[in-house]
Amino acid sequence: MIRPMKKTTNFDFAASLFRQKAEELLKIRQRKPATQILDTTAQNHFHELELNQIELELLYAELKHTEAALLTSEKSLQEKTDDLLLLANSSFKLLDFNSIDEIYHFLGSKLLQLSGADYMLLSEYNELNSSTTPKLWFGIDQFIGKIVSTLGKDINQIQIPVQDVAKQMDLELRKKIYCLAGGLHELTVQKVPKAICVAIEKILGIREIYSIGFIWKGHYYGGASFGFKKGNKIKKSDLIDTISNQASLALSRKYAEKSLTENEKKYRGIFENIQDVYYETATDGTILELSPSIKLLSKGQYTREDLIGKPIYDYYEDRDARSKLIQELKKCRQIIDYEIQLINKDGSLVNCSISAELIIDPQGNPEKIVGTFHDITNRKQSEEDLKSALTKAKESDRLKSAFLANISHEIRTPMNGILGFSTLLKEPGLSGDQQKEYISFIEKSGERMLNTINDLMDISKIEAGQMNVIVSEVNMNERINNLHHFFKPKCQEKGIQFLVKNNLSPDKSILNSDRNKIDAILSNLILNAIKYTPQGSIEVGCGIVHAIHESYVQCHVKDTGIGIPLSRQQAIFDRFVHADIEDNAVYEGSGLGLSISKAYVEMLGGKIWVESTLGAGSTFYFTVPYQVHPQTRNNTEEEANPGKESVLSKKLNILIAEDDENSKLFMTISLERLTNQLFIARTGLEAVKLVSDHPGIDLVLMDIRMPELNGYEATRRIREFNSKVVIIAQTAHGLAGDQEKAIEAGCNDYISKPINRIRLLEVINRHLRSKLTNF
Ligand code: ADP
Repeated sequence: MIRPMKKTTNFDFAASLFRQKAEELLKIRQRKPATQILDTTAQNHFHELELNQIELELLYAELKHTEAALLTSEKSLQEKTDDLLLLANSSFKLLDFNSIDEIYHFLGSKLLQLSGADYMLLSEYNELNSSTTPKLWFGIDQFIGKIVSTLGKDINQIQIPVQDVAKQMDLELRKKIYCLAGGLHELTVQKVPKAICVAIEKILGIREIYSIGFIWKGHYYGGASFGFKKGNKIKKSDLIDTISNQASLALSRKYAEKSLTENEKKYRGIFENIQDVYYETATDGTILELSPSIKLLSKGQYTREDLIGKPIYDYYEDRDARSKLIQELKKCRQIIDYEIQLINKDGSLVNCSISAELIIDPQGNPEKIVGTFHDITNRKQSEEDLKSALTKAKESDRLKSAFLANISHEIRTPMNGILGFSTLLKEPGLSGDQQKEYISFIEKSGERMLNTINDLMDISKIEAGQMNVIVSEVNMNERINNLHHFFKPKCQEKGIQFLVKNNLSPDKSILNSDRNKIDAILSNLILNAIKYTPQGSIEVGCGIVHAIHESYVQCHVKDTGIGIPLSRQQAIFDRFVHADIEDNAVYEGSGLGLSISKAYVEMLGGKIWVESTLGAGSTFYFTVPYQVHPQTRNNTEEEANPGKESVLSKKLNILIAEDDENSKLFMTISLERLTNQLFIARTGLEAVKLVSDHPGIDLVLMDIRMPELNGYEATRRIREFNSKVVIIAQTAHGLAGDQEKAIEAGCNDYISKPINRIRLLEVINRHLRSKLTNF
């Protein structure tokens, strides 16, 4: 029996057994004498034995042959097993390597060994420029100097664009090793000139070049090229194909991992640093992810850890808004700039804009919502600002048009009167009465124009924030009486009654407020009442009203006039607004009076309103507190009384400092009755000199705008040597600040141009009452 040992040993053993048996039989035959005749049985035995021996020898020969064949197949089997082992190992190793470099080094050793090549070059894919460059080369160390000088550059400076490689030959075909008929020139996709390629082939003695690409799913990751000298052929090409294929998979994975890591790093960076908040929520609203920027958005009140796992509904100001968002997402999958309000930890609301997408799982069901949101408080504010700026711009535009229409009307109409009657005055042969009549028309027109200009000046001062409150003691009863006295003739002229219904006891009639402004408010309301009342009466009066902290004087001006429709009762307090839009030409007026009155009342700390019935009459009310907090200085000037005549003891020495001839003439004539001696100065310097030369001067009427030295400076210099002379400034600008400046410079008082004679006398009387004899 063949024992389970090495096969050669079994055959030898069987053969030696047979040989042993045959030799034993021969010995038996030789022992018998030659002449002795063997019996038939013995002879047959010998014959059988001989046949057996021949058979045995044949068998032995056959055994030897089988043994040799077995040896060969055993060797090839071993080789195949080794190859398989190598492939199995390489597939694991290639996938297990940590870096692309390790893969290349492994390929370097294995492919060179398997192919039996004299030279080998491995090239690598470069993502930055989508080309391949030589990475490792073998067998050329001793020729490297010559190769580099022939090439004119380092080997690793050769770059072969992948798209050229693909153009030259279908990438799929490159996945198996192939022979390059065009040698190095073909290998370099003709990027290296043929002559150089041939020269390098010569240096290396290359006869044949083979190449294979590392290609996976149509992507080219590099390749291996093998150079053979004369007589050498590529070996194990199947193995090289398989290992290259394994390498392609490993390289594709490494590149994918690399880009995954880079992307992960990139997105992590974005996630960590974005200003917007990135979020993910489950469909039930549970917060799955939030970027750290939530801290910024919540002004430090929440961190992502506080909120992950919580229901997002809890942070919506309007829970329905989130439901609507989901519905919208189910419809369109994506939503952009959806505005919501989120609740911060302290309960404050943050206006946010969300952009989100609904993620669907592979089964087609909604999986989660991912998106971003950011704070749009500033944007909202800007929108609001923009809206209000637009409204203001429209309002200004409306006002501008109204302004132009009103002012044009209000200036042209009196101008018409002035110019018209001035022309008529020139007519020869006019009677004295006619002349008086025409002059009074001119005066009225002048007054009307002055009123318009004053209104405009006032409104621009209010607008510029230059209208100051000048506080002094104001006796309301006195103001009402004065105004009654002043406007009574006008009412009589129109045939209407003017009544006073005053409920203020004398001790309650003193306010600390701005007298001029109260006068202006009351005058304006009375003038309107007269203007808009064709018949009947008007009534003015005051009373006290008590509020929680403070008592007020409440004044009213009531008329039985045309009334104001309810829809216009608010608007009439706006600038340039008339109650009767269509028919405003019937009544003269710039539409500024009530808006000025309203501004004044508010400056004094009160309110103004109207109650009116169309066709039956109106009552305007306004309140003023007893005490106004002064915005400027406290002016404790004495109450002026235009109606009061002074007891005059003597006439005055007056200096008129004025460069304008008309104004000078007007003042000279106006003051004629009180003048003892008149001095005229045309410049500030002249004025200073005249006062210094004539210490007897009682009064200086100091114009502010004069050549050489202005009125402020001239006053300052006069005050250096004369503190007694009364200096009254004439301010033409009518701007707030002028009057304060005049007082600061040392003037006793001021009077605005155009100068009203009565007002001028009033002021002079106030300061020089003791000296005046008759006026
Ligand atoms: P003006 O009188 O110059 O037009 P106001 O600002 O004083 O400007 O008044 C605005 C508008 O209010 C007037 O045009 C008029 O239509 C209405 N109005 C004011 N006072 C009265 C009043 N007493 N009776 C009726 N309408 C009035």
